[in-house]
Amino acid sequence: MCGIVGYIGFRDASDVIIKGLKRLEYRGYDSAGIAILNGDVKVRKGKGKVINLENMLIESGIKGNVGIGHTRWATHGEPNDVNAHPHWDGKHNFALVHNGIIENYDALKKELTKKGHIFDGETDTEVLAHLIEEIELVGKVDFETAVQMALKQVDGTYGIAIVNKHEKDKIIVARKGSPLLLGIGEDEVFIASDASPIIEYTNKVVYLDDDEMAIISRDGYQVKTISNIELTKEVHELEMSIEQIEKGGYPHFMLKEIHEQSVTIADCMRGRLLPDQNKIVLGGIERVLDRLTNAKRLIIAACGTSWHAGLVGEYLFEYISKLPVEVEYASEFRYRDPLIGPEDVMLVISQSGETADTLAAIREARKRGALVIGICNVVGSTIARETDAGIYTHAGPEIGVASTKAFTAQVTVLSMMAILLGQRRKVLSETDAAAMIKALHEIPGKVAEIMEKKEEIDQISRLFAYAPNFLYLGRSYNFPVALEGALKLKEISYIHAEGYPAAEMKHGPIALIDEYMPVVVIAVTDHTNEKIISNIEEVRARKGRIIAITTENNHDVRNLAEYCITIPETHDVLTPLLTVIPLQILSYQIAVYRKCNVDQPRNLAKSVTVE
Ligand code: GLU
Repeated sequence: MCGIVGYIGFRDASDVIIKGLKRLEYRGYDSAGIAILNGDVKVRKGKGKVINLENMLIESGIKGNVGIGHTRWATHGEPNDVNAHPHWDGKHNFALVHNGIIENYDALKKELTKKGHIFDGETDTEVLAHLIEEIELVGKVDFETAVQMALKQVDGTYGIAIVNKHEKDKIIVARKGSPLLLGIGEDEVFIASDASPIIEYTNKVVYLDDDEMAIISRDGYQVKTISNIELTKEVHELEMSIEQIEKGGYPHFMLKEIHEQSVTIADCMRGRLLPDQNKIVLGGIERVLDRLTNAKRLIIAACGTSWHAGLVGEYLFEYISKLPVEVEYASEFRYRDPLIGPEDVMLVISQSGETADTLAAIREARKRGALVIGICNVVGSTIARETDAGIYTHAGPEIGVASTKAFTAQVTVLSMMAILLGQRRKVLSETDAAAMIKALHEIPGKVAEIMEKKEEIDQISRLFAYAPNFLYLGRSYNFPVALEGALKLKEISYIHAEGYPAAEMKHGPIALIDEYMPVVVIAVTDHTNEKIISNIEEVRARKGRIIAITTENNHDVRNLAEYCITIPETHDVLTPLLTVIPLQILSYQIAVYRKCNVDQPRNLAKSVTVE
């Protein structure tokens, strides 16, 4: 969370920074701020979105070719003007922006207060600025050394950028736990939390790793560790295009991303799913395939929507590959002394590849000898670099805060992995594998067919847009989809929604059902069909309003449900890839009817880099 952009070169820095911050707003939009270095350091900042900052800058007329900017997702201190970044040292010599949490800020603040420092706001970040100032002053060291010494004293995570009026034409950045990359141009250098702000200027990037810093000037950059050991970093070439990060005529990124899924699922399978040879090739995990095939147990760790994909994975690996699976919230895993060792394989799933809790789980598992495999969307992300092997989802940049295309791409990867492992573990017959591979190959076309149902779904959305609660029910592979449907609705329309395995309903949630309660039931024609029909009857008997997601030929469900959204038939194990699509559309349309900010829902941000 929090987006950082910086620029040094020949362009108008505020222009580059404002444009970049708008692209990073998915990471937070509580407040925004900028510091421009042109002889002096000039700061403008305030509560609210980047557009407010842009207006502020137009009025101020501040110009310069060196600067840093920030869009905030508050962790410490109310989202107000004072707590907005950049933060000053006491003498206003330098300004600092920060992504992450300084965990020992309270103790440091007390110390610094005793020494006479006065703080303007409540953020942990401001404490870091004052700590640097104190060290520079008392230690009589140069500024760069003071930054290094301060960073060694802080616990927690940071991605920081600093401009100092005494350090002409220089930006200092550092990272630990929060992403930062440098974009390398001709006589100019860009700084950003991800590649989207820099893609139109350069495709050459340098990723900073933990405990590294960079001293950036117009004609280059020097990367070193915070212990002052100079490093030579690899320059990577980005493959992202500018069209991928623009709305392309859609009113919202989320709608664009929902629409893209027939293409992104196909992209995810390209060169990996080979129906003619009845084969799956996953190059990213080839090196570790023997260890994975012989694993005693697979532990899937993830957060949010990726955790739901992990739950689908549990059904897939156990049914198709006969491999025992446990699915963990990454945030819980590391705090309970987990029993994991060299015979286990951990599979982590993260769209951004920066999720702090997931990274912590990876480190814990690796420490205990487990092999860790990652499924990430963002190429070159920290998780992609810290895992032993991995598979990219290739869904393209996901900008809507509510995840859609990343989920289907994750489930696609999990399906391919499960089939491949089933074959290698000799527990899946070639005929069954062929049926699954063929069905997977046909999924993109079927997703496109569901998109044609938008009008139908729209009518249902309009009817229920003002319901205060929703219940989502599913069984087997589609139980995690029920959770995901409920999460999508909560996230963007602020309607309270719960997902349950359909049979669990009678152990409590059934008490909530009355004639006002919309109950979304995912009832595809599979081995649970009979049972879920009984669950639908139970809801009907209490006058609940049934909205069923079912297949064309499931006449029993279609006759029982008040409203129906039909999806094409597919192999049972792959139904989540189709059933989730109408649920994404439903929550999107409801949010639009409720006039909610779909792409930037309140209190949320993407790329959760704080624990
Ligand atoms: N802890 C800082 C603040 O609350 C930065 C937050 C973040 O990176 O999400 O301002």
